This record gives sequence, C-alpha cells and structure tokens, in this order.
Amino acid sequence: MSSALLPATCARCNGSGWVPLSGDSLRVEPCGCQGDLRRRQRISASNIPRRYYPHCTLETFYDKNNAILKSARNRVREFVDSWPMTNEGRGLLLMGGCGAGKTHLAVAALVEIIHSGKPGRVLFCNFQELIQDIQASFDADAAVGKSEILRPLLEADLLVLDELGSVKPTQFVQDLLYYVINSRYNTVRPTIFTTNATDEPGADGQRLVDKIGERLRSRLYEMTEQIVIKGVPDHRSANKQSGNIL
Ligand SMILES: [Zn+2]
Repeated sequence: MSSALLPATCARCNGSGWVPLSGDSLRVEPCGCQGDLRRRQRISASNIPRRYYPHCTLETFYDKNNAILKSARNRVREFVDSWPMTNEGRGLLLMGGCGAGKTHLAVAALVEIIHSGKPGRVLFCNFQELIQDIQASFDADAAVGKSEILRPLLEADLLVLDELGSVKPTQFVQDLLYYVINSRYNTVRPTIFTTNATDEPGADGQRLVDKIGERLRSRLYEMTEQIVIKGVPDHRSANKQSGNIL
C-alpha cells in the first residue's frame, strides 16, 4: 500500500490545520499542510487517472521543438492563465492522431488550475467509459441511474472529455451527450475535448462528424477553439527510440 493512501498527520500542526503564530502563542494561523491537503482532495475529486498524475503538466509536455506542439501548449497555457475568466464559456477542441499528446495537454490544464490554487470544480471523464456507464444505466436493475452519471458532468466548472468519438454512440446517447455539452455551454462552463478524429477522413475513413453526429459537431464549432495537432511523430514510438520517459 502506498503511503499516499494512508491518512497523513502533519507533524507541525498535529493534524489540526492550525499552528501558533510565532511570537504570539494566543493566536494561530493556517498550517502550510492545508494547501497540500486541499490540493490532494481536488486532484482526487477530479478523477484524473493515476497514469496521468502527477507527471502531466505543461512543464513536462514534450514539444520536440515542433512549432505545432509548442503552439498547442501555448494555447492551453493561455486558457489556464485566464481561468476562471473564459471567453463566454468557450473551451478547447484538441484534435489529432494518437500519441500527439492531446490528453497530456488536457490533463495539464486541470492539474495547473489545481496546483496554482485557482478556483473551480474540475473533472476528467473518458468518453468510452462514460458511454459504457450510460448504457449500463439502461438496465432495469442498474445500481446507478443516468441522472447520477450525468450530474457531475453538468456541475463541473471545467470538464475534460477525453477521446471523444472513440466509440460510436447510439442516437439516444448522442442526444444525451448533446444535452450535457449544450447545457454546459449555456451555463458558461467550458469543456476541453480531445479526439483522434479530425474533419478529414482518418485511417478508418471516418471524420469526427461521422463519429458524433452533425448536431454535436456543429455545436463544437461554436463552443470551442480548435487546436489541430497533426504532422508530428507519435511520441510513444519516438520515446522508444530516444529512451525518454514521459
Ligand atoms: Zn499541518
């Protein structure tokens, strides 16, 4: 069992969260551990998969000195810097092939917001898992209902929806997704999407619109700024050659 999972008691404040002010033992101030505690709670509530935390930050994004990757990272940095002021709820749509680092950048946006102590509930959601959860909720004896699955997605101030279009949803699930995404936009809650698909046919001959439907695709135009990452080598195969660990 990792020590991170054990309840940590701060030696300085004995877990109370308060320490005496130096020179005035009758007054207290918040202990430094409280910032770390809040940060850990937010990271854990954000649902960011273990494989992306803590290493997925903007700092650790490997840009290979490539102009497209640098520009993508700069755009995400601008988004984080301006948070929580966003351009009327507009989010980002990170498009491009496998291994381009889209998920790294999307996760980094959430991590940077938490690490810098900026406000807001941030949430990571994998598209395929979401679809599976929604479909499982159709079972009559499902443990978790649809509204319980969708509520966190509606309430998060910033949502990452990773691998949009990685599975093809039924028309009914497409409608649910449209409802969620449109509601977020209308309540000025931005979403950062990543997708392997683009507006040109991919290796499977499919465009993004073929995977998520016309209505959702056209809504994404209005509610996100598109960042297309293409023409860069797959970082996973590149890493094997260079021996880098990312
Ligand atoms: Zn403490």
